[in-house]
Amino acid sequence: MGPKTKAYGGASAVAKEEWDALSAKLCGRVLCEKDAAYEEARLQWNLDRLKRPSYVIRCESVSDVEMAVKFCREHSLDVTVASGRHSPFCFMDETVAIDLEGLHGIHVDTEKRIAHVQGGARLKQLDRECALYGLHVVAGINPSTGVAGLTLGGGCGYLSPMWGLTIDSFISAQLVTAEGDIVECSDEQHPDLMWALRGSGWNYGIVTRFDFFLRPVTTVFTGMAQWPLTHKTSSILAEVVRLGYDEYPELSLSLSFANPEGQPVAIIQPCGLDPDKGAKDWESVKARVGLPPPLMEDVGPRPYVELQGMMETLQPPSHCYEKGWLMKDFTPAVADKVIDALTERPFPGCTLGLAPFGKVANTVPDEATAFFNRSSRFWLLVLAFFEEGADNRQRAIDWTKQVRSAFAEYSTGSYVSIVGGMEDDPIESVYGGNLQRLKDLKRAWDPTNFFHNNRNVMP
Ligand SMILES: Cc1cc2nc3c(=O)[nH]c(=O)nc-3n(C[C@H](O)[C@H](O)[C@H](O)COP(=O)(O)OP(=O)(O)OC[C@H]3O[C@@H](n4cnc5c(N)ncnc54)[C@H](O)[C@@H]3O)c2cc1C
Repeated sequence: MGPKTKAYGGASAVAKEEWDALSAKLCGRVLCEKDAAYEEARLQWNLDRLKRPSYVIRCESVSDVEMAVKFCREHSLDVTVASGRHSPFCFMDETVAIDLEGLHGIHVDTEKRIAHVQGGARLKQLDRECALYGLHVVAGINPSTGVAGLTLGGGCGYLSPMWGLTIDSFISAQLVTAEGDIVECSDEQHPDLMWALRGSGWNYGIVTRFDFFLRPVTTVFTGMAQWPLTHKTSSILAEVVRLGYDEYPELSLSLSFANPEGQPVAIIQPCGLDPDKGAKDWESVKARVGLPPPLMEDVGPRPYVELQGMMETLQPPSHCYEKGWLMKDFTPAVADKVIDALTERPFPGCTLGLAPFGKVANTVPDEATAFFNRSSRFWLLVLAFFEEGADNRQRAIDWTKQVRSAFAEYSTGSYVSIVGGMEDDPIESVYGGNLQRLKDLKRAWDPTNFFHNNRNVMP
């Protein structure tokens, strides 16, 4: 969150009649605490962060977004922007939320292989619509994540090793600026703005339409296999990950780590683009490193859209403290740190995940998009799930921070999208050498920092 360069605030200073008049003009509507729909409207993925905005402006059209921005600007209101509600920034106490939940149309142009996606769509909607045509956008793994927040921060998922980050398939956009203007941008139109949207997008306006290049994906080779994670197996598992990364261009290996019954385990999720080749690649990797028999293995051909839906039940809305950062490598030493973290976890639901981030993303220069730290190979995510309660919350935070410092020497920088606690991750560690250009663009497009409730780039 960034300081405001202008005094934004005070939703209560605006007369009720003015709110009513705005609501009457919208395709959507304005909600306040007295409305029956308010409680449901302010829900977010992380139940530990529930907030009470003064008003929620539910937008159902681009003109709604335009009107909402102009209204909030005219009254100098402190705004947040909400799409998939996975970040801590979607709602804040006593602010006004411009909510895009009702703006989720998707059009798939099969001829041009482009998906046009409205700013409030979630990954589940995007995946299901694209799957009808055997096409997909490279995106994250949790179906309830918003396309907007995920894309504007970079975006990675099972297909990233083969096709790069979500921003690497993000070709153009429409946004409503801090002035309330509707602007189209691409590599030809306002190319600087397009550059900034690819990694720092929430700072420059509200994106009402994303255009993505689509990839052909139907049935993939995937599933799960589980091994005990011990100081003995850690070097073999690290070698599996290295081999998969370096020598199998059409296979991605994602790992999650848990400690369900006091014995740390590693769960590998392979994803091969072609079901037959994926199966062969997977068997080949295992044979080359001499992996012992798994505790369980359930792999085979599956529709990609089914794989994308799996986290709906595995990562439901929860009380959670999360942190993530980029990693150069997954080495035996890193695997040993994972074992330590799991052994010291405060609650059985505390997990770590390691997603392959690079390969294609590694080939794009840092200065080509706002997203920095392109040379990182993996993304480590720590999710400390806990039962509601202040003491539990503190234990979850303490553990996550302890894990963060134990991994400090292996981290190559922050992933802007995972921001459970931002104090260890200054904005410089996110944008490195791209920060100055982002600041210059912020001065050009949002000099008063109207959009400041985000991972903020100060003008
Ligand atoms: C359980 C979980 C799983 C995740 N998995 C992945 C993953 O696999 N891959 C990955 O890359 N990331 C992942 N993330 C991180 C996720 O991408 C970020 O939290 C992202 O910011 C969420 O976007 P959202 O739209 O859901 O959230 P929101 O909280 O609604 O918005 C996030 C940010 O975007 C801004 N914003 C929202 N809509 C717009 C818009 N239309 N225009 C401009 N700004 C807007 C908001 O102001 C806010 O700053 C995961 C997060 C969680 C909690």
